[in-house]
This record gives sequence, C-alpha cells and structure tokens, in this order.
Amino acid sequence: MKARSRRALTCSATGALGLAAAGGALTGNFVMAHGLAAAGAATFLLPTLIRNCPWFGPIITSFPASGREIWLTIDDGPDPDETPAILEVLSKHGAKALFFQIGNRVLQRPDLALAVMKAGHLIGNHTQTHPVATFWATSPHRATSEIALCNEALLSVTGTRPSLFRTPVGLANPFVHAAAERAGLRMVGWSANGFDGVFHDPERVVERIMKGLRPGGILLIHEGRLPGMKPGTRAKTLDRLLHRLADTGYRTALPRA
Ligand SMILES: [Zn+2]
Repeated sequence: MKARSRRALTCSATGALGLAAAGGALTGNFVMAHGLAAAGAATFLLPTLIRNCPWFGPIITSFPASGREIWLTIDDGPDPDETPAILEVLSKHGAKALFFQIGNRVLQRPDLALAVMKAGHLIGNHTQTHPVATFWATSPHRATSEIALCNEALLSVTGTRPSLFRTPVGLANPFVHAAAERAGLRMVGWSANGFDGVFHDPERVVERIMKGLRPGGILLIHEGRLPGMKPGTRAKTLDRLLHRLADTGYRTALPRA
C-alpha cells in the first residue's frame, strides 16, 4: 500500500472510530465509547509520534554510500553567534553539511544563509517558525503554510528552491507528509543523534553519535544556543565530531539537491 493510501485510510479510520465512539456515548455505552475513541487516536497518533516513522510517507534515513560516507545535518540555524564559527570548523576540515534552516531566522540574517550556500553547503527547509511543541498536531493549513513560507524565504534569500525538508523534532502527521509531497520536498530524517539538545558536553554528544555511525548514515547536530550552554559549544562539538570521523576513515558527502 502506498503512503498516500495509508494517510487516507488512517484519516478515514480515525474519523469512523470517532463517530462510532460518539454513537456509543450517545447510547450510554461509555466503555465502548472510550475504547473506540482511544483506538481512533492511536491509529492517528502512533505513526505521528514515532520519530522518522515512514508510515505516512517516505523519510530518508540513509543513503547508498560509496565507502565510509555520511551526510552531516545541522538544524535550527542560521544563528548569529554560531553559524560563522560552524562554517570555519567545516572549512578547516574540508567537510560539507546539509543545513536545515528556519525560515524566519533566514529572513532575520540572510547574510548567514548566503554564507552557508557560498561555502558550498546545502540548505533544506525546516519550517518557517519551527513550532516544536505543536507541529506534530498541526492542521493541513498550518503544515502547508509553514513549509511554503520557509521555501519562499530560502528562495528569496539564496535564489535556490530547497528540495529537502526536515520536520521539527522528526515528528510528522499525515498532513505534514502530504504538504511536503505537494511542495515537491523529500523528507530527511537521521540515523545517528547526539541528543545535543539535552546534553551539552561535546565529548558525550560525539560519543553518542559515534555509536550510531555507519556508512550511508545521516548524522544530526544543532546550532543555536540553549539556556545554560557555554558560547562556542556547538562549534567545539562539531570540531570534535569531524576529528573522530576522520580518525575512523569517514568523510562527509552531500545529497543531490
Ligand atoms: Zn529543529
């Protein structure tokens, strides 16, 4: 079954179970009503709340590598305090990265998005406002506008229309998949995550990533200062990661745009 059919089926099943639950409640059968409502919610929510779940649509979590190659992805920029240092570290190591940038940050600092492109890296769509807390439950309208506005921001600033999309925190309901598909974007997940949003210590973050390292893998790190994070932490983490990758014979590659 194709992902589009699975999305339609899930929405129909969720609706039918919801109606049946309402019917049960109206006839006083509250146990049955609760059960049907829970089943309806689970049908919709389970694939939505599993990160990088391909049930509602394809998500790239690996690529056919020639040897020890990985895609290095850097989310949530551009960031005035960190993007310049991150670009310096990448240049020092001769590494290339795929940046998933947030539309309104691109509009605030177009110079930084341009600097990323000029250095030979790629930029993908990471929504216009990065609504991490609510995007998993987004409506079809909001999903479409978050993706379209970010595409417009990137196109107006860099002159290039993105072809890749990453949803905030890797969660996507059927409407997000459908909106990305309509916008002609391929969705990219990851296979190795250092959890640098939780852990700040570069050594710990890099060791977590290294545990998930394999040829054709997609690594996830972030830019943007978090509360309590020392200045320069992101660049230090990246520098350490690139040293470890080189030590183990890995190099960065970029997807075809
Ligand atoms: Zn993000």
